Amino acid sequence: MSRLGVFGGTFDPIHSGHLRVAEEVRNYLHLEKILFLPSFRPPHKLEEEISEAQTRYEMVVLALEDHPQFEVSDMEIRKGGISFTVETLTVLRKSCPKTELFLIMGIDQLIEMETWKDPKTIFQLAHVVVMSRPGYKREKIVDRRPETLEWQSKMLWVEVSPIEISSTMIRERIRRSEPVQDLLPQKVEDYILQKGLYKSSSLQLQ
Ligand code: ATP
Repeated sequence: MSRLGVFGGTFDPIHSGHLRVAEEVRNYLHLEKILFLPSFRPPHKLEEEISEAQTRYEMVVLALEDHPQFEVSDMEIRKGGISFTVETLTVLRKSCPKTELFLIMGIDQLIEMETWKDPKTIFQLAHVVVMSRPGYKREKIVDRRPETLEWQSKMLWVEVSPIEISSTMIRERIRRSEPVQDLLPQKVEDYILQKGLYKSSSLQLQ
């Protein structure tokens, strides 16, 4: 049975942290491939302004060009509306019934998990893989949210290299005209500059 990583995110923009931790998880869990899934509208970011879905998708395509072990899917973007992980996993499960699915997320996503639709079914459809991330302590989060205890017992924890990069940090640095090289692939930086993204007025509500 093949093993596929499923890595959802806003990717606004995709950055070197995403690529690095995905590769570490892939090696650690012996996954053949990781599928990057830019969301159309993540349920936990309904109030936030995010860049157009097509723009975020194009940045992921550019970032993955030199990584044959990674693939991008536009299924959530084509579907539109709020991107619920359970629905995405259901589609993947049907289209590749013989593949073992590993849903990959950073520990910060775990905090949002109670806002997710049908977490129980998510655990039936996939192994849930939670990665460490600087600034988020596993014990603290679990203590604060006892309802995650049951889920926690089923999760696979992966300690990845601490990488202090976030999309928020990149957007803020670009807004302030600060350098972002080394924080994201060169091709993505060129795309951002060419499109004038993250210069305050370029963000659009979907
Ligand atoms: P933002 O700052 O806009 O919230 P982000 O950097 O968290 O963005 P997302 O696209 O929201 O990026 O993240 C997609 C997934 O990657 C999430 O599961 C997130 O936890 C994980 N992730 C992102 N950056 C890191 C990192 N540096 N270390 C570990 N996991 C990360």
